[in-house]
Amino acid sequence: MYKPEIGKLIFDWYQENKRDFPWRRLKNPYFIWLSEVILQQTQAHQGLPYFERMVKRFPDIEQLARAREEEVLSYWQGLGYYSRARNLHKTAKIIVQEKQGEFPQSYSKLIKLPGVGKYTASAISSIAFNEKQAVVDGNVYRVISRLFAEPTCIDLTKAYAVFHQLASNLMGDLPPGDFNQAIMELGATVCKPKNPTCDLCPVNSDCLAKKNNLIDLLPKRCKKVTIKPLYFNYLVIENKLGELALNQRSDKNIWANMYEFPLIESKQAIGNLSKLGLKEKYGKELDYIGHYEEAVHLLSHRKIYAKFWNFRLNKEESPTLKFYDAKEIRNLPKPKLIVNFLKQFYSKN
Ligand code: SF4
Repeated sequence: MYKPEIGKLIFDWYQENKRDFPWRRLKNPYFIWLSEVILQQTQAHQGLPYFERMVKRFPDIEQLARAREEEVLSYWQGLGYYSRARNLHKTAKIIVQEKQGEFPQSYSKLIKLPGVGKYTASAISSIAFNEKQAVVDGNVYRVISRLFAEPTCIDLTKAYAVFHQLASNLMGDLPPGDFNQAIMELGATVCKPKNPTCDLCPVNSDCLAKKNNLIDLLPKRCKKVTIKPLYFNYLVIENKLGELALNQRSDKNIWANMYEFPLIESKQAIGNLSKLGLKEKYGKELDYIGHYEEAVHLLSHRKIYAKFWNFRLNKEESPTLKFYDAKEIRNLPKPKLIVNFLKQFYSKN
């Protein structure tokens, strides 16, 4: 049976126990938007340095709108889900160019912006503008499904409406921004996916999952996630000047517009590249040096097996390759897989 005071218990617990993050001290919608986009799919302590660096470089929406996309992506490097950074930049331009820099102030206007979904629109409208909009993110799904032993699978389309209603009931007349942050904080720090610390939970005496021993079974999921393997063969080609060849990815698919080594994808892991006609493509001055240990990189629906094949090109240029020195490479946006490899590569060279 739902008790209205449960929401208040969560709200009061938050006032006493919230972690101190810079975005919690700000009411400026630009900073709240920035933090909310960074924190999607990212834990707060991991997102914090990104937030601080971005606020320093782009202190207002005009500066963000004026930047080149490549620079915005380089500030995002390592966070993953790069479409978030591209949409952030696109949205900044729209707000500056079409709305005279004024941030939309309601859920219904915010949701029309690129990359702003139900979660982000609810978070900004409630935290910055005090609109009564309950947020539903992974933490909220977990707390509510356990608290009410809610059997709806959270990966079904109908789940959002079910959990949004339950979160709105819990919010009642409490201040929307703080209540939303309270329930997300409870999920992030107490009602964790594994081994929740129920002893510290302000609603443990009302929690149906705890009472009925269902904690490990909730939240429920119905769909099985299939992970597709991908085999990437990266050609790490160094020229006579010690520069490395990089290509920019297309604006479609994963890691759009980011830089990586020339890539050959294969259907399975391959033992050598002799049959791929690299000499014909890059010239007879190309010498194979060796390869590095395979790196495995996990994305939400992909598992990338990456092999880095090292070559030396005994000349400075090639008509089919573009070379960059170490300083230029540092400033280019690159996927984490490439960043990690480069650390290893430069430490040995
Ligand atoms: Fe989560 Fe435990 Fe609190 Fe229930 S009692 S909401 S399972 S932390």
